[in-house]
Amino acid sequence: METLSNREPLYHSWTDFLAKTASQERLAWCESKAAKANRRRLMSGKAAIRVTRQDVWSILERAEGRCYYCGSLAVEHQPAGSWQGVGRRVGTLGHLVARALGGDNNLENLVWACAWCNTWPHERRWAATDHGGHYPEGVDVVAANRPSYILSPSQHEAAERQPIQRRVRKFLAENPEVAAKAFVYNRLTGEKHPLVSRMLEEPEAD
Ligand SMILES: [Zn+2]
Repeated sequence: METLSNREPLYHSWTDFLAKTASQERLAWCESKAAKANRRRLMSGKAAIRVTRQDVWSILERAEGRCYYCGSLAVEHQPAGSWQGVGRRVGTLGHLVARALGGDNNLENLVWACAWCNTWPHERRWAATDHGGHYPEGVDVVAANRPSYILSPSQHEAAERQPIQRRVRKFLAENPEVAAKAFVYNRLTGEKHPLVSRMLEEPEAD
C-alpha cells in the first residue's frame, strides 16, 4: 500500500518541477517561506532583515531545488502527519547560522534545504538516501562535491567571518549529540540551549 511515507517522488527533476507547477504557485510558496523567515521568534526576536519572495525564489532557483546539505531534490510540500519517509524531498528555507544563534535573513545566510537536514543538523550527509533522499538522473551527487552554485565562495566567506557563530558552529559540528540536544531544546522552548548561550557570551579564545 502506498502511504505518504513511501510514495514515489512527485517531481523527477528540477525541470519536471518547473513543468508541473505554475510560476504563480511557486512564488506563493516562496512567499510563505519568506513570511516564516520574517516572523518574530521568541528568543531571536524580530528579524532585522526582511526577506522577499523574490529573494527566496532566487535561492531556490540557484539551487535548482536541491538541498544545500544533502543535495536531494527538495521541492515537495510537507505532508500532513508523518513526513519521516519524505523528509529529504520537502523543501524549506534554511539559515546557515540559525536565527537562535544570531543569524539573520541576509542572503549570505540563507540556503535552500530539505526539511530533514533543516530540522536535524546531525543528519546532514551529502547524498544521503534515507528519508526519501531523491537524486534525479543527470546529477551525479555521489561523485560531485557540493555544487558551488548553491553558495558562492564569497558567500561562504561571509558566513565564516562571523567569529562567535563560527566557534559555536564548529563546536556543534564536532559534538553532534550536543548539537541534536541543543537543536531540539531550541525547537521545543524557542530558547537557546543554556550551553549555547554561555558560549555566545564568552569572549573569543583566539
Ligand atoms: Zn537535505
